[in-house]
Amino acid sequence: MITLDDVTLTFPDGDRRVIAVDHVSLTAAPGVVTGITGPSGSGKSSLLAVAATLIRPDSGRVLIGGPDGAPVDAARLSRREAAALRRERIGIVFQQSNLLPSLTAGEQLLVMGHLGGARDGGRADRAGRGGGRHRVDRARVAELLDAVGLSQHADKRPAQLSGGQRQRVAIARALVHDPDVLLVDEPTSALDQERGGAVMDLLARLTHERGTATLLVTHDLVHRGALDRLVTVVDGRLVPETAGAALHAA
Ligand code: ADP
Ligand code: MG
Repeated sequence: MITLDDVTLTFPDGDRRVIAVDHVSLTAAPGVVTGITGPSGSGKSSLLAVAATLIRPDSGRVLIGGPDGAPVDAARLSRREAAALRRERIGIVFQQSNLLPSLTAGEQLLVMGHLGGARDGGRADRAGRGGGRHRVDRARVAELLDAVGLSQHADKRPAQLSGGQRQRVAIARALVHDPDVLLVDEPTSALDQERGGAVMDLLARLTHERGTATLLVTHDLVHRGALDRLVTVVDGRLVPETAGAALHAA
């Protein structure tokens, strides 16, 4: 579960500041895909970056909690602590799949186990255990590639995969540490409608099966059916949900 509580984020803009996120409060519940839509420049990616602990907000709280612990306010953590929290509890999928060109699909996942582990210390890192709750071994990689329908493609490099398949690898990679929170920014923007729909359906299924609290940014609503809930952002502010629904009624 993740809760943004009265979050505001500004960026410097000449001698003024631009308000990217304006007093936003939003909770993403486990097992639910919460869609965030809104015009270009309305602050969707900024909101996601705050939720991802990649940017610290000017004010407000970012409460991230798992079933096994009290929520922590990620907005109060040091960079190092935020990185550890991210590694253990948050999966992120960006617009581009950001895969490493020289690694196979399986290796893209395996390498996640070698990123510095906060809990285990360096010795465990060298043994291939990252900070997450799961040991990232061949069996774990196989399970995840199967979950995204890529069992047959484990040994292919990004250049040998389609855009949709690459995005599936990125999704599998985001799930490697069994995150409580899954954050996804415009996952279909580089895909045609059919492949985009398949990726959205996959994200919905994984969210429901694995119980992740999923926040998914999308500016186009052709795949609205894959979202359990939809909120709208305009000029950094959340539009009240009923007004937003009226806005999107076809
Ligand atoms: P969206 O994802 O909805 O298109 P963004 O979150 O990318 O919107 O941007 C929201 C606002 O914040 C825009 O006015 C944008 O120009 C500004 N912005 C985003 N990132 C930065 C940055 N790193 N530096 C300065 N301004 C930024
Ligand atoms: Mg964006």
